[in-house]
Amino acid sequence: MKRNDAAPPRAFGTGATQSRGRLARQRLRSLPRPSALKQPVSGMSGVGPAAAKRLSKLGIETAQDLLEHLPFDHRDYEGRRTVAELAIGEEATVLVKVRDCRVRPTRRRRLQIVEARVADDTGPLTAVWFNQSYLVDQLKEGTEVLLRGRLESGRGNATFRVSEHEIARAGDDAVGRHTTGLVPVYPATEGLSARRIRELPHRLRGEERNVIEPLPAWLRARDGLPVRADALSAAHWPSAGLEVPPARRRLAFEELFLSQVALVVRRRTREEARRAEALGERGELVERWLDSLPFGLTGDQLEALREVDEDLITGRPMQRLLMGEVGSGKTVVALYAMLRVAEAGMQAAIMAPTETLAEQHYATVESLVPPDLFAAEEATRLGPPIGLLTGSTPAGERRDVLGRLGAGELRLLVGTHALIQETVRFDRLALAVVDEQHRFGVRQRTALDLKARAGLVPHVLHMTATPIPRTLSLTLYGDLHTTALRELPSGRQPVKTWVVPEERRAGAYGFIRERLDEGRQCFVVCPLVEESERLQARAATREAERLAETAFRGYRVAVMHGQMHPRDKREAMARFAAGEVDVLVATSVIEVGIDVRNASVMVIEEAERYGISQLHQLRGRVGRGEHQSYCLLFSESQAELARRRLDAVAAERDGFRLADVDLTLRGEGDLLGTKQSGLPEFKVARLPEDGPLLARARRAAIELLRDDPGLNAPEHAVLRTALEGRFGSLERERIAA
Ligand code: ADP
Ligand code: MG
Repeated sequence: MKRNDAAPPRAFGTGATQSRGRLARQRLRSLPRPSALKQPVSGMSGVGPAAAKRLSKLGIETAQDLLEHLPFDHRDYEGRRTVAELAIGEEATVLVKVRDCRVRPTRRRRLQIVEARVADDTGPLTAVWFNQSYLVDQLKEGTEVLLRGRLESGRGNATFRVSEHEIARAGDDAVGRHTTGLVPVYPATEGLSARRIRELPHRLRGEERNVIEPLPAWLRARDGLPVRADALSAAHWPSAGLEVPPARRRLAFEELFLSQVALVVRRRTREEARRAEALGERGELVERWLDSLPFGLTGDQLEALREVDEDLITGRPMQRLLMGEVGSGKTVVALYAMLRVAEAGMQAAIMAPTETLAEQHYATVESLVPPDLFAAEEATRLGPPIGLLTGSTPAGERRDVLGRLGAGELRLLVGTHALIQETVRFDRLALAVVDEQHRFGVRQRTALDLKARAGLVPHVLHMTATPIPRTLSLTLYGDLHTTALRELPSGRQPVKTWVVPEERRAGAYGFIRERLDEGRQCFVVCPLVEESERLQARAATREAERLAETAFRGYRVAVMHGQMHPRDKREAMARFAAGEVDVLVATSVIEVGIDVRNASVMVIEEAERYGISQLHQLRGRVGRGEHQSYCLLFSESQAELARRRLDAVAAERDGFRLADVDLTLRGEGDLLGTKQSGLPEFKVARLPEDGPLLARARRAAIELLRDDPGLNAPEHAVLRTALEGRFGSLERERIAA
C-alpha cells in the first residue's frame, strides 16, 4: 500500500475551485505531520543494511511501508497454563525457569534434540526442541523463559515439544510478543524471520496516529468503520483496544474500496469523456445474416445481442466483456456486432492473441458469412470485405489488405496484434473485438483506441473463455460491463470425464481404440514439466513413440510441442484437423479455441500437475462436435487436495462453478495460484470470503463518484491523494481523455 503523500491532489479533479482548494489545504494542515513515517527503514535502530535490503524485497522502504506491512493472520496463543495444568495434546504457553539444558545425542546424525529441564512453582517439565543446538548457550540455569508448545506423551515421562519460546527478562515489556495472546503472522521473506518482522513494527508504536486516513468521514460514520490508525494498531498490536476481526475488515474494505473507486473512475472516464461512432438500428443486411445462420441462437446469445445493440447506439464507447466457455458461441455474438458496424459502412476488427486463433476466427467468419451477403450492396467490389492480417501474412498480401483497409473497402479485419501496428490505418474503425482479453496489456488496448477516427475511440467488445467466479469479476473487470454465455449451443453433449488410476490404464487404452475404430480422434496431453520446455518436448516425443509401438500400434500417431517450428506445429495441427492423424500427442501447447469436431477423446497424463482451470480449458478442446466426448484424467496421486481437484473436474462441467471450487480449494496464501489466475493481489482482503465486503466497496465507490465525480470536495482530498499514490496511471488516462 504505497502512497505518495507529497503529490498534489490534482489528478481526479480538473475543476477544483479556489475556495475548495484552500479548504483542502486547511484540512491537510490540520492533519498530523507524517514526517517520521517518511524515514527510510534503514535509519531505524536495529535495521542494518542487510535487513534493509531484505525488507525492500517485501516492498518496505519507509517506516510507513513497515506500518502498512500487515499480518495476514493472527495465531491465538491464549491458554497460559502452569506446568501442573498442562494436558497431553493441548497447546499452551508456560512460564518456567531453566534448570539445565543440553544437546541429547541421537542415533540419526542429522537430528539433534535440545532438551531442557525446566520448572515453575507447580512442578518440573522436560522441554524439547529439534535441531537448534545454539539454544544451549541461551538457556542457562536460572533463565526465565516462556514456552509455547504441546505436551506429548513419551515412553518414559511426557515431554513438552516447543514451537516458540521467548526469554523473559525482568522489566522487558516486550515479553510475550511471540508466545502469548494474539500473535500476528506477517508475510516473511528469505533471511528475515517471521519473528524478526514481528518485532520491527513495535518500534513504530504510536506513529500509526500519523498515518493518513483515506476513507471519508461520512463513509466511516455510516458504515461504522474504525479509523485507520486504530485498525493498524489492532493489526500489529492486538491487545490494543479494537478487536482484530473488525480491524482486518476495515483495512480490507479500504483496499477494495480504493481499487473499486479507481476502476469506476476508469469506466466513467471512458464513458463520459470519450465518444464512439453511434450506430442506428440494425438493418436488412444483418437480418439476412441472422436468417442465414444454420442454427438457432441460444437464449444467452439473444440476450447478448440485445445488450450489444444497446451499447452500439448510444455513441458512448462500448466496454463490454463477453464471458463464455470455449464453444459457447462467443464468436457468433462478436460477428453480429461486427456486421452491424459493417452494415453501417464502418469497419470492425477482431484481435486474437495467436496466429492459430486468428486463423480459426477467420475461418469461422468466412463460414458464417454467406459469400453473397454483401453482394447486393456493392456489385463493384473485387473480393469479400473480410481480411486476415497476422505476423506471417506475406508482404504482397499485406500490402493489399492495408490498401483496401485504408480505402474502407475491407469492412471486417481478423488478426493478431499485427493489426495494432502503426502502419495499419483504418478508414473508419468503429468496433474492436479483443479475444482472450487478459492476454493483452493496457498498452495494446490504448493502441487500438488510436485507430478510430480523430476524436473518437472504437467500441470494444472483450471476450474471455476463462471463467472467473462472480465474486471476483468485480476486482478484475470492474471497469467493464459483463455478459455471460452459460448455455451450451444445442446438440452439444457435455464431456464425460473420469479420473483413471494406473491399474485401469490398459482398459482405458482399449476404450480409446474403440473410439478410434469408430472414426474418432484422440488428444494425449503429456505431463506438465514447468522447469523446461525442452524436457517437456522430449518427453512428448518419447511418449508418441511409445504409444505408436504399444497401445496405438497400427494407428496414425503424431506429436506436437512447443519446441517445434511454428510452421511444423501448424502443419501437425492441420493434419490432425484434416483427419490424417488418429492420435495427437501434445504438450499443453494445444491452444484454447482449437476446434477439431471429430476429436472425441482427451487424455491428460499426470493430471494432478494441472490446476482446475487448466484442466477445464484442456477438456474444452473435445466435445465440440456432435459426438459424445470423453476426458480421461490419468493420475496416480494420493494427495488429498489433488484428488479433490480432479474429482471436481470430473463431476462438474460448468466452468464458473469450477472456478468457485478452485478458489475454495486453493485457500488463502497461495500467491502462486493467484498470480496464475491473473487475479489482482490484495494485501489484506481475501477472496472469495470477502466477496460481500467487495460488493459493499463497489456500492460505496459508485455512490461516492455519483455525488462527487471529480473527487473535488475537500473531504475527499486525502482519498484523492491516496488513489494517485496507488494508481498513478489513472491520471494519464484522464489526461488522455
Ligand atoms: P467460442 O468462440 O465461444 O469458443 P464459437 O462462437 O466459436 O464459440 O462457437 C463454437 C461453434 O459452435 C462454432 O462452430 C459455431 O458456429 C457454433 N455455434 C455457435 N452458436 C451456436 C448455436 N446457437 N447453436 C449451434 N451451434 C452454434
Ligand atoms: Mg472462439
